[in-house]
Amino acid sequence: MKRVCILGSTGSVGVSTLDVLARHRDRYEVFALTAHSRADELFAQCLQWRPRFAALPDASQARDLQQRLRGAGCPTDVLAGAGALCELAAHPDVDAVMAAIVGAAGLAPCLAAARAGKRLLLANKEALVVGGALFMQAVREGGATLLPIDSEHSAIFQCLPEDPSTWHARIDHIVLTASGGPFRTRDPATLRDVTPDEACAHPNWVMGRKISVDSATMMNKALEVIEGRWLFDLPPEQVRVVIHPQSIVHSMVVCRDNSVLAQLGTPDMRVPIAYGLSFPERIESGASRLDFASLATLSFEAPDFARYPGLQLAWDTLRGPEGSTTVLNAANEEAVAAFLAGTIRFDQIHSVNARTLEALSIAPDEAASIDALMALDTRSRRCASQHVTTLAR
Ligand code: NDP
Ligand code: MG
Repeated sequence: MKRVCILGSTGSVGVSTLDVLARHRDRYEVFALTAHSRADELFAQCLQWRPRFAALPDASQARDLQQRLRGAGCPTDVLAGAGALCELAAHPDVDAVMAAIVGAAGLAPCLAAARAGKRLLLANKEALVVGGALFMQAVREGGATLLPIDSEHSAIFQCLPEDPSTWHARIDHIVLTASGGPFRTRDPATLRDVTPDEACAHPNWVMGRKISVDSATMMNKALEVIEGRWLFDLPPEQVRVVIHPQSIVHSMVVCRDNSVLAQLGTPDMRVPIAYGLSFPERIESGASRLDFASLATLSFEAPDFARYPGLQLAWDTLRGPEGSTTVLNAANEEAVAAFLAGTIRFDQIHSVNARTLEALSIAPDEAASIDALMALDTRSRRCASQHVTTLAR
C-alpha cells in the first residue's frame, strides 16, 4: 500500500485525485488531506476516506473540524497552520504527495516533500515558477521523484524515455499545446467587458477559478513555458507553444531528427494523475477513451501575441534577471484575484503584470535562496496591488 498525502484535496485536481484513488483502494491509502476555505468538503472527505491526518490553515476552523469528526466517530487528527502542510508533506509515513494547492502558497510544502525525498506529483505549477532552479535543486538533493501532473508536461514526460539523462540528446524542442481558452475568437475590442464567470467558462476543461482565468489570458501557458523550462531542463527557446482548440493532443516532443512524438487523449486530468501515481506502470484512470472515428478535426495555429500579450512574458522573464518569474507569478496572482473580485477589468490583468515587472528591479541576492524569493514574492504583491488600486480608481 502506498500512502498518499493530498495538499489541496478540496480543489479540482484534489477531487480528481480522490476519484482515481477510489478505483485503486487495494494499492493506495489516503494518509492526509488538506484544504483552505472549504471545511465542509474536507469534513465529508474525511468521513469517506478516514485519513490519519487532515489540515486547515485556521486554528479555530481546525478545532471545529476536529470536534465534528470526533462526534462522527472519525479517527482523523486535524492539524492547523501553514507549518502543518510541510509536516504532512514530509511525514516519514508518506510515500507520495499530490501538490494540488493553487498559487505560491504551495511552494513551502512542495519543498518539504522534495527535501524529504518523496514522490512529488506536481500540479501546483506556480510553486515551480516561483522556486525555479532552487526548487529543482531541492528535488535533486532530497532524492525526490518529481512527476508532472499538468497535462502538457505529463504528455511530454510520457513521450520521453524513463531515463532523464537521455533527454537532452534527443530533444530539439518541446511544443506545449494550448486551447486558446474561451476568447480565442472573440472580438478583442470586447475583452474589456468580460465577466469573471465568462472567463472561467473554459471550453474543454473544468478547473479552479484561478487557472481558468489564466487560461483565458493565456498566462497559464506562460506559466507552463516556465514550468517546462525547469522540468525538462531546456533553454527558453526550446519551449514553444501552439494553439490546438480541441485539447486532444496534450503536447509534443520534436526530436533532433524531426520526428514528432505526441500524447493524445480526452481532456481529463485523471490520466496525468493516474500516471503520476503509478509511473512507470499504468493503472485505470476513469477517463473515457478517444473515439477516432468521431473526431472531426484536429487543428493547430500559431498563438496571436496581440490577443494574448501575457504569453510573451514567459520568455521575457526567463531571459531576464533571476527572480523575474517570481515577480510575474506574484503580480498575476494579485491581478487575477482583483479581477475575480470585480476590482479590475479582464484586460487590465496584463497591465498589472507588465507594470509590476517594469517597476521592480531585482537585486541578485533577492533570488539567492527560497526565503529571498518568498520575500521578493511579497514585495511584488505589494507593488502589483498598488497598480490594482491605481487602475481601480
Ligand atoms: P482549485 O482552486 O480548484 O483548488 C485549490 C486547492 O488549494 C483547494 O483545495 C484549496 O482549498 C487549496 N488552497 C487554496 N489556497 C490555499 C492556500 N493559501 N493554502 C493552502 N491551500 C490552499 O485549483 P485547481 O485544482 O484547479 O488547481 C490546483 C493547482 O493545479 C494549480 O496550481 C493549477 O494551476 C494546477 N493545475 C490544475 C489543473 C486543473 O485541471 N484544475 C490542470 C493543471 C494544473 P479550499 O478549496 O478549501 O479553499
Ligand atoms: Mg496545463
